[in-house]
Amino acid sequence: MGCCGKPIKKAIHIIQGYTALVRGKKYEGTDDRIRSCQKCQRNYWIGRALFCSICKCFVPAKARVEGEKCPLAKWD
Ligand code: SF4
Repeated sequence: MGCCGKPIKKAIHIIQGYTALVRGKKYEGTDDRIRSCQKCQRNYWIGRALFCSICKCFVPAKARVEGEKCPLAKWD
């Protein structure tokens, strides 16, 4: 992949995650991922919205993309 591969992949995952979130779609590992993030010391909350302080992702969207990974390998 070229120099722009990672940003493009990230953008695609963000679109996939938010699309799945809006449509209420999950994959089989989504709930386990979210539970791990809820217990993680690297999370943060804005109101009731859960984020990862390392990748800055909105967890309910990130957790819906099968190809996403936890930056600390707490889930994959
Ligand atoms: S993605 Fe990983 S590091 Fe980030 S909040 Fe979730 S479990 Fe923690």
